[in-house]
Amino acid sequence: MTGAPRAKLRTPRYGLKIRRRVEHILQKSKRTYKCPYCGANAVRRVRLGVWACKKCGKVFTGGAWEPFTAVARSAELARERA
Ligand SMILES: [Zn+2]
Repeated sequence: MTGAPRAKLRTPRYGLKIRRRVEHILQKSKRTYKCPYCGANAVRRVRLGVWACKKCGKVFTGGAWEPFTAVARSAELARERA
């Protein structure tokens, strides 16, 4: 048998990495983004995945932490690699 997973590989390091990522993500969520409807830099996160433009009042759903998530892009990259 080869490649038996070792419990030792699952160190708390993963948690640390994720925590750092979350900090970075939280900073992102506090930013204002450009509104796709009126172009004003006034889009703020109302709640998880819901964004609203303070200028034109448009409310739309997007990524949990960014209005225009890069997840789709990275998914494409993953597909290319596969
Ligand atoms: Zn707007």
